[in-house]
Amino acid sequence: MVGELVKKVKIRNLHFHSKKITSQKSHIAHHESVAVIIVSLVPIPFQIIALTQERNSLFEYPIDRLASIIGELGFRCTNCARCCTHAFNGHVFLLDHDVATIKTIDPQALEPAPYPEFCDQNGIFYVSGYALRTKDDTVGSCWFLENGRCRIYDQRFSICRIYPYMLHREPDERGKVDWRQLSGLNEHGDYHHDITMEECLSLAHQVKEFENAILSQEISFLELIQDYFVTHHLRHVQKVYDDRMKRFKKGEAVNVMVYCAGGLVEHQLVRHD
Ligand code: SF4
Repeated sequence: MVGELVKKVKIRNLHFHSKKITSQKSHIAHHESVAVIIVSLVPIPFQIIALTQERNSLFEYPIDRLASIIGELGFRCTNCARCCTHAFNGHVFLLDHDVATIKTIDPQALEPAPYPEFCDQNGIFYVSGYALRTKDDTVGSCWFLENGRCRIYDQRFSICRIYPYMLHREPDERGKVDWRQLSGLNEHGDYHHDITMEECLSLAHQVKEFENAILSQEISFLELIQDYFVTHHLRHVQKVYDDRMKRFKKGEAVNVMVYCAGGLVEHQLVRHD
């Protein structure tokens, strides 16, 4: 997974990050995250404003509407385990409390999230959090997936508990930005099962909490970077970013500062694929 540190930097760190969107309904996305831009070219204060507006929109989104969409979809997991692979879902972004949990289970399962947002003039990358490590098998199975089952199911992480539901805005294949509430429609699981309204509402609340936490983490990261760069006389340099990334792909080690629990943690990474 670390091998995916590439130039692309996305509009925000997405939890299960993958490559295509082919929505069939306006409110349902197949896969996530196509919004790929060079985010570090947008001044940090504007990024913070945009994310804050997005968070406000999230608060305003009616919980009943999300609950009724969840009920209408009637998704049921069929234990195919595809969603726990990088091939299907990209990387799994972790919230701070997930990182705290994982440290008590197996710290080896943590790695800096791919797609760092910034690189300073000294060639140090900065990324807004950790991701779950994957295995070196053909599909990039989650570190905790064994024989098609999660071996830490009772302690699984925030996104694992709400997946495949989500609530954020993304462009569809025509570029139309709209709310998306489901990942991987018709690519996994069964649909049209009965889900009680109580369960739908509970899921809807959990989804909103998760999306709020993701946005809040990204905003906090940007605020910290803003101050940190000023204090340490640093600046993002895209050319250095590109050069270091090329060298990283050729096997050179890079230094990455990972945002976690309000601070930055230094890591040295070497491509391992
Ligand atoms: S922690 Fe468990 S549920 Fe989450 S992606 Fe890994 S195997 Fe799947």
